[in-house]
Amino acid sequence: MSERKQLADWTTGAEAIVYQSCARCGSLQYFRRSFCSACGAADPLDKRASGEGRVYATTLVCRAATPETRAHIPYNIILVDTAEGFRMMAHGDNDLCIGDKVKARFAPFAGRLIPYFEKTK
Ligand SMILES: [Zn+2]
Repeated sequence: MSERKQLADWTTGAEAIVYQSCARCGSLQYFRRSFCSACGAADPLDKRASGEGRVYATTLVCRAATPETRAHIPYNIILVDTAEGFRMMAHGDNDLCIGDKVKARFAPFAGRLIPYFEKTK
């Protein structure tokens, strides 16, 4: 098992997006694992992302999944191809289009701070 310290990110209350980079094959992954999902090497390195990227896909959510999210309807769920090269799912402005350049800030949603992407020039 890994003894390496994990970088704090938004899932633990910090205003940061963290991804992992494999020292053996160079693959990047967003969902934290104790191994590389491409080659199986142990202990991929935690790195902090810039929060910059480009919209790969958007889905406007018009029905609340839970009572806590009802106040946010409609909200946009997007896939972002980050500047670092991994893809992540997040919230974003409702008028974002595929290909838009975006930057993350952190916004409250259903009781926690989440990455929220806005269009940049
Ligand atoms: Zn690897």
